[in-house]
Amino acid sequence: MPCEVAARFLIFYGSQRGQAQSIAEEICQQSAEHGFTADVSCLSNQHKYNLDSEIRPVVFVVSTTGDGDPPDTAQKFVRKIKNKSLPHDHFSHLRYALLALGDTNYANFCNGGKTIDNRLQQLGAKHFYATGHADDGTGLEVVVDPWIEGLWDALKKTFSSMATSDQLGADLSDRTQENYHKNASDKEKNKSDLEVDLHLLKLSEVDSQKGRAITSDSSDAETLSTALVASLKQSVPPLSECALNVPALPASYLEVLLEQVSTEGETVPSDKEGFHEVSISKAVQLTLDNAVKTAILLELDISVQNIAYQPGDAFDTLCPNRASEVEELLLRLDLQTQKNCAVQVNLLKNNTAKVPLHIPQNGSLQFILTWCLEIRSAPKKAFVRALADFTQNGSEKRRLLELCSKEGSADYNSFIRDANVCLLDLLRAFPSCLPPLSLLFEHLPKLQPRAYSAASSSLQHPGKVHFVFNVVEFPVRPEHPARTGLCTGWLADHVSSILRPLGTVPALERLGTSALPKVHVRPRPSSTFHLPADQSVPVVMVGPGTGVAPFIGFLQQREKEREANQEATFGETWLFFGCRHKDKDFLFREELARFAHNGTLSHLIVCFSRDEPDAVGTVNRPTYVQHNLRLHAKNVASILLKDKGCLYVCGDAKNMAKDVNDTLLEIIGNELQIDKLDAMKTVAGLREEKRYLQDIWS
Ligand code: FAD
Repeated sequence: MPCEVAARFLIFYGSQRGQAQSIAEEICQQSAEHGFTADVSCLSNQHKYNLDSEIRPVVFVVSTTGDGDPPDTAQKFVRKIKNKSLPHDHFSHLRYALLALGDTNYANFCNGGKTIDNRLQQLGAKHFYATGHADDGTGLEVVVDPWIEGLWDALKKTFSSMATSDQLGADLSDRTQENYHKNASDKEKNKSDLEVDLHLLKLSEVDSQKGRAITSDSSDAETLSTALVASLKQSVPPLSECALNVPALPASYLEVLLEQVSTEGETVPSDKEGFHEVSISKAVQLTLDNAVKTAILLELDISVQNIAYQPGDAFDTLCPNRASEVEELLLRLDLQTQKNCAVQVNLLKNNTAKVPLHIPQNGSLQFILTWCLEIRSAPKKAFVRALADFTQNGSEKRRLLELCSKEGSADYNSFIRDANVCLLDLLRAFPSCLPPLSLLFEHLPKLQPRAYSAASSSLQHPGKVHFVFNVVEFPVRPEHPARTGLCTGWLADHVSSILRPLGTVPALERLGTSALPKVHVRPRPSSTFHLPADQSVPVVMVGPGTGVAPFIGFLQQREKEREANQEATFGETWLFFGCRHKDKDFLFREELARFAHNGTLSHLIVCFSRDEPDAVGTVNRPTYVQHNLRLHAKNVASILLKDKGCLYVCGDAKNMAKDVNDTLLEIIGNELQIDKLDAMKTVAGLREEKRYLQDIWS
């Protein structure tokens, strides 16, 4: 067995939105620096490797989606390992490490990874390195970066122990270690180069602060004249004066060639990933102009494509980056005149990484920046590190190195991650930074489609699906101008010609279908978030704001079923809805009143968080949905615990879903007279039985 095979390990990722994939690829890329070779593959392709007899170490990077599920691409693998007929030592030969990704804003934190981890353990597989649980709520990199740093040592030890148990492997181990030491000493050398570099940078800063400015950049002068307050561009002591631990410079692996052939006219994405172009047949503003947020309902005509869905499903929606931001980026990178060139992306020589699949060959530069790369994403530390190397000005370079350093972690969080700063914001703040296109292609993630829950039933609206969304608004900050959410802001602009206020008659009939705005969508079926198959089961729905969307679909469906089958028994339906103001943003007010009036909805419980109390004795009036749940605790508990009913929660993951969950624990604890731990077990049981279902987003 040759040396390369001994030092080779496998990386499998299960990715829903591309994060696990990009981390897996990052590990693969870094592996060479540490004397290893890695094969990286999506879990959906795991048939290419035979885990049943795999003796090489395996690294899994697994994200979590939905209600704590493994990502779609990992489902087949999970089903395979969950097969009950597998013996308990099925994977006793397997040595693995697992990095689970999740978000503590959601229930079942990291459950996708935990599911795989637990099952592998049950089947006898052994960890060669402790499992990492990274939290997108606080920043994945807080766990991911040190986890990857520690992985190399763990792999080295694993390969060594494999080698000592294998005579042939002895030489291999030497070779591996030789590689390792060579890399380590190179790294050490790089590190000392870097320290020297940083030392010089510090001196140049000190000089400039004493007025003996080395740079002539006006922004530096501005920086010096302002008081010492940290900002994206400027640090304050102790950070500005300390030596920095910066991440290793990520190795470049792409070469980008621009060819002067005209690709003009290429304006829409291909339909490779199952997207359909459909007409937007209606757009209604559901909120008044003076409401805090603008909610818009869209009706899509899906009759031509014959797309089927059930209430509870969602639709992935493609959206482009803003034309103005793409233009500015092209200008800033000095590529404006080449925007229609065809792009060829190749791997640099001797590289085991892969050309990112989301970058098409021969697409125009403008097309790729518009439809393929998430240019709004907050640059990861590795990207910031790489950008520093393309920054001429000493102080700017030092600041970028600070922002990606261990010592500058708090600044990174407040001035980049939490401020939703994107590449363009950094390029504006650091004018001497001029990265090559290849760096953008290596670091910008895939532009992800946004999901919207169906707010309709096809029984009530044949050939149509409705969405409702709030236009996300990012207010102006020192780090960036005011802007709207990528998809919601684009959709709002895109439908402005047909947008009408609630209650007005559409003038659409005059517009032919060809004049209607179009959008690319793909159904995203839910495996569990549906009305119970047994219509007599009672349901409690909690959906404040746009969280009411799937429940409008549920109720439209129930209304039609009741009309069609008047003899049948239907379970009680409760809806807990909330908004800020009764008269400004009470979404679907008339439709909900109709459901309540005709008995489709047994109980409509509404609260308004910002309205003044309007009656005597309303001091403790319910403000949020959880307050109303508490007021109806007896009914909720009885539906869940006695009548085997279902609880559905939809909407904001950050606050609402947590508060509702806490209230549920309280309701169940009080009802059953049990402590919090036992209440948690009961709630976990409800989840397991798919009687407590969440469709939540941030
Ligand atoms: P982006 O540009 O992607 O920005 C959104 C990001 O910014 C989020 O990370 C958010 O935390 C953050 N953010 C939001 N507001 C602010 C602010 N003021 N300041 C700072 N940060 C902020 N959304 C709906 O409206 N209706 C639905 O029916 C719906 N259904 C969904 C169903 C599923 C299964 C999923 C996964 C999501 C659903 N969403 C729904 C969320 C939706 O997919 C988008 O995430 C949302 O519309 C924002 O997209 P955007 O591109 O406009 O915002």
